[in-house]
Amino acid sequence: MKEKALHQAHGHVDYLLIGQGLCGTFLSYYLQKENRSLIVIDNNAITTPSKVSAGIINPITGRRLVKVWLAEQVLSFAHKSYNEMGNFLSADVISQKNIIDFFPNPHQRQVFLERMAEDDEYLHSYPEQNEFNRFFNYDLGCGEIRGSYAAYPETLLKAWRQHLINNDQLVEENFLFEELIVKEDSVRYKNITAEKIIFCDGLSSFENPFFKQLPFAPNKGEVLIVEIPGLPGQHVYKKGFMLSPLGEKHVFWLGSNYQWSFVNADPSKEFYEQAERHLKSWLKLPFKILDHKAALRPATLERRPFVGLHPGQKNVGILNGMGTKGCSLAPFFAEHLTKHLLFNENILPDADIGRFSKILTR
Ligand SMILES: Cc1cc2nc3c(=O)[nH]c(=O)nc-3n(C[C@H](O)[C@H](O)[C@H](O)COP(=O)(O)OP(=O)(O)OC[C@H]3O[C@@H](n4cnc5c(N)ncnc54)[C@H](O)[C@@H]3O)c2cc1C
Repeated sequence: MKEKALHQAHGHVDYLLIGQGLCGTFLSYYLQKENRSLIVIDNNAITTPSKVSAGIINPITGRRLVKVWLAEQVLSFAHKSYNEMGNFLSADVISQKNIIDFFPNPHQRQVFLERMAEDDEYLHSYPEQNEFNRFFNYDLGCGEIRGSYAAYPETLLKAWRQHLINNDQLVEENFLFEELIVKEDSVRYKNITAEKIIFCDGLSSFENPFFKQLPFAPNKGEVLIVEIPGLPGQHVYKKGFMLSPLGEKHVFWLGSNYQWSFVNADPSKEFYEQAERHLKSWLKLPFKILDHKAALRPATLERRPFVGLHPGQKNVGILNGMGTKGCSLAPFFAEHLTKHLLFNENILPDADIGRFSKILTR
């Protein structure tokens, strides 16, 4: 079956993409929209950050409740692009959901009120303070974060994969560097030739001979998938952890943690127990834990993505390093990279891998 897929996917294409996570999905979408031919190689790993992610697109970040990087451009663009792809695929892949922020301690309540007074674009007081009393324990009240979204990455990834398969554009196998030949003006991989190869392979780029010098900093995150009959699904709830409705009725995503040092990428007993304890004290409704997952985020030391063509090898590119914000950054930078590849538009300097020219050409 796999051999067949590779046999079909022969010949010459404009772009060979490695990886069909959120980066590879959005990049292949935008390249196809510009009528470029392409093939995507993806090994269909079961646990990837794109598949484990909650899909939360939040304009506010961190304990200090600051606006996310590029909030104005990135958020509205993400909404537009998920909607566009959802319409194209006839799939429900995003919905607007405000975040109900239950203050976990007096300090966080104070921070919320101060930030709201400074700038009330996204942060708002919630008029019905008792509305959630039936569902949650919260003694210190709650605020509301508007302008946020819940995307459904798993649904999107599956539907786009099917589209690629229907068009003979997907090869399901492990990409092997030994089989790649990079020439002056093209690349060859087995029986595929392409003008350019673009790596959207998440963590695998850490070992990629072209890009391994980049300052990647993997970050582990774990989640529980929980069934909570009776809890309304029109908001994302937050109190330390996020509790976000998934596409399926009564099923919620609970997470996550952010670990910079870890022994392995497996789900841990510690997280399971901590998250279960947390939910028991927060939630008034009975719940059932359906699953426990973990994945490593392709984060970077300076918390900025890696986008562009290799400074010493112009037919080898990368779209990676989306870290904790891949659901909103991936569509934005996929379109950005497409415009760079096709129309030579400049890449935002903070994201351009040109900033690492020295180490990449050493
Ligand atoms: C627990 C958790 C929660 C998260 N929640 C959010 C959130 O709510 N909001 C948000 O914005 N972000 C969130 N993120 C971050 C987000 O998921 C990532 O930034 C994003 O998914 C990265 O996408 P990617 O395409 O770069 O990488 P990946 O998802 O890793 O995709 C890479 C793809 O390449 C394939 N691949 C790799 N190597 C090879 C190879 N050799 N051959 C073939 N195929 C290969 C993999 O199988 C995979 O399909 C979360 C991450 C985690 C772990």
